[in-house]
Amino acid sequence: MTQPRVDVAIIGGGVVGAAVARRLARTRLSVTLLEAGPDVGAGTSKANTAILHTGFDTKPGTIEATLVPRGYELLSSYAPAVGIAVEPTGALLVAWNEEQLAALPRIAENAAVVGYERCSSLEAAECYRREPHLGLGALGGLMVPDEHIVCPWTPPLAFATEALANGAAIERSRPVLGAARIGDDWQLDTPAGPLRTGWVVNAAGLRGDAVEAMLGHAGAFRVTPRRGELVVFDKLARPLVRHILLPVPTGRTKGVLVAPTVFGNVLLGPTAEDVQDPADTSSTAAGIAGLLEHGRRILPQLLDEEVTAVYAGLRAATEESDYRLASRPEERTVCLGGIRSTGLTASMALGEWTAERLAEAGIDVAERADAVGVVMPSLGEAAVRPYQDAGRIAADAAYGQIVCHCERVSSGEIRDAYDSPLPPVDLDGLRRRTRVLMGRCQGFYCSAEVTARAGNPAAAGAGP
Ligand SMILES: Cc1cc2nc3c(=O)[nH]c(=O)nc-3n(C[C@H](O)[C@H](O)[C@H](O)COP(=O)(O)OP(=O)(O)OC[C@H]3O[C@@H](n4cnc5c(N)ncnc54)[C@H](O)[C@@H]3O)c2cc1C
Repeated sequence: MTQPRVDVAIIGGGVVGAAVARRLARTRLSVTLLEAGPDVGAGTSKANTAILHTGFDTKPGTIEATLVPRGYELLSSYAPAVGIAVEPTGALLVAWNEEQLAALPRIAENAAVVGYERCSSLEAAECYRREPHLGLGALGGLMVPDEHIVCPWTPPLAFATEALANGAAIERSRPVLGAARIGDDWQLDTPAGPLRTGWVVNAAGLRGDAVEAMLGHAGAFRVTPRRGELVVFDKLARPLVRHILLPVPTGRTKGVLVAPTVFGNVLLGPTAEDVQDPADTSSTAAGIAGLLEHGRRILPQLLDEEVTAVYAGLRAATEESDYRLASRPEERTVCLGGIRSTGLTASMALGEWTAERLAEAGIDVAERADAVGVVMPSLGEAAVRPYQDAGRIAADAAYGQIVCHCERVSSGEIRDAYDSPLPPVDLDGLRRRTRVLMGRCQGFYCSAEVTARAGNPAAAGAGP
């Protein structure tokens, strides 16, 4: 029996791998995405601060300084067209001491050097006028008007769904365990059998170094997971904050911020702590206590509000702060490693970058005239949700049957998720497609019904 063969195999279905799959599936190439976990977007890509960065604070001369602004441009126009929730809140960088105040002009200069010219300095009084609930002691600020908040969950799902619609295979629960050269091709070993491929794209995130080793480049870089813990506050906290409130960054991290979310909550975080285990997304008492201390300073009233959830994500930090990209045409591999703190923003630019490297190697990556797009259900609180849409409910009563009362998710949306081309395989996947179970009760009231519908998707939409 002949082995299946594709032109390009992408290892890793986070936001980066999915964006690459989307871009390449729109060409004449045959593409397979291999994801070890049960779903796309279920690794680091589901647990971040969900900011669409302009790149104003990137380091001049780095790859990140090129790809973040380009990714911002691409995702800013893709998101509204596809149904990815995005809100133009802008960001306010707040200086809390003289040293931070003195750093603001340098940050604005840096922004201009990397191509972002719209930062403006604010006196303390103006900071308080724009953010009336800011804690006492702000000395001044820097406004970055084009920073956005974005839905972190829909982008990888949209990219993978679009890749699928254009002929790519999205293989979930299919880890790559080894790789060998066979002539000019690669053979990737997986529990479901080998896959032969012309090119390999390493988008394995926290395991990017292990996949580089499989491809013959052990030691090219080493990933040290950098854990970021976050606290999610209840929707009643949302009126307390208008912008993303950024700290003055240090060389090591962007620091602790307070930001609204597109779901209508408020986020506080993240921490930055190196850990050894690439699966260690546990939260710690010390981490959360430290965050609450920061929160008390930035927005004191936030601490009077209920905490809905805490979670942690792991950044794929390496020995260098820049992305670890490599293209080896002679070996037919592309490595997208070390995409640490800005990968959601840069994802589409990384897809474009990969296509450019293939083009340099003589591969035709022109988009097909018949390539199609997709529209995803928007999870944003600012959009009209199905339960608010009288016309939609009149046409299909399932959109008026609320299952998750905290997040107002209807049985019609749960049914649609299961009917979608890339359906969820677990409750976490259903949550990332609908918002179900992510509200203030964290499933206390609705998990039995949601679980029943998940076990019997046909029941979703069949009535209460
Ligand atoms: C706390 C925190 C805050 C952040 N905030 C922001 C932000 O506000 N804005 C922003 O733009 N970015 C932010 N980021 C960064 C962003 O989340 C990441 O850069 C991005 O999610 C990385 O995506 P990825 O696809 O490279 O990795 P992942 O999402 O980790 O995907 C890699 C995938 O590869 C799979 N895999 C690994 N090994 C194999 C194998 N052998 N075979 C098959 N599959 C494999 C994994 O299962 C995983 O699903 C933040 C990150 C963190 C942790």
